[in-house]
Amino acid sequence: MAKPTYIVMLGPPGAGKGTQAKVLAKKLNLTHVSSGDLFRENLNNKTELGRLAQSYMSKGELVPDDVTIAMVEERLSRTDCVGGAVLDGFPRTPAQAGALDAILNGLGGEVNIVPYISVPAKVLVDRLGGRWMSHSGRVYHALNNPPKVKWIDDVDGSPLYQREDDKPETVQRRIDVYLEQTSPLIEHYRSLGLLVEIDGTDDIESVTADILEAITGAAGL
Ligand code: AMP
Repeated sequence: MAKPTYIVMLGPPGAGKGTQAKVLAKKLNLTHVSSGDLFRENLNNKTELGRLAQSYMSKGELVPDDVTIAMVEERLSRTDCVGGAVLDGFPRTPAQAGALDAILNGLGGEVNIVPYISVPAKVLVDRLGGRWMSHSGRVYHALNNPPKVKWIDDVDGSPLYQREDDKPETVQRRIDVYLEQTSPLIEHYRSLGLLVEIDGTDDIESVTADILEAITGAAGL
């Protein structure tokens, strides 16, 4: 059987990792694995992990590595990931990156390519502050990607909401945490020859096209 393909989306909160990861997964027939979505699912289902995660997420802090790694390992071992996955929001620390290598090794694969979506800090604050979510996972933006009717999902008409951690007091902390704990991964993956840098300030379709071009060029995916 062919080796699984693993793509790691890197970039600050608000860069568009989730949006792009969903599109890429669909186009490349891979499964989208978002650690933030997994935590939010646990939160909605009121699991013990959800309760633990909430105490960190609401402050913009990272959930401890051990529980995060165990959660992602379990997700990647499910049958819908046999062909590989587009990882979004994981790894976020050097320890998580090391753990991911071990997990993927156990699954017969490795990190194939790391699209790094770069966006200036000022743009991130605006993007996160204007982000509106639907309960079924669609993401809108008050200015850049507005729904037809304010605060209403185009598809099913249900009300949109703002993520607790997209409120202004938490956004800056999330960006600082990214700079302190996650940004060292840029150099890590660059030194391994896996990083492709993408300008994330363009519109959604242009960024997708840039990523697809970069990854087909770099990894022959
Ligand atoms: P996201 O949806 O990727 O913006 O993640 C939302 C929040 O979930 C983050 O601010 C963290 O509190 C938590 N989280 C998501 N992924 C991770 C991770 N890999 N490590 C630690 N915490 C995470």
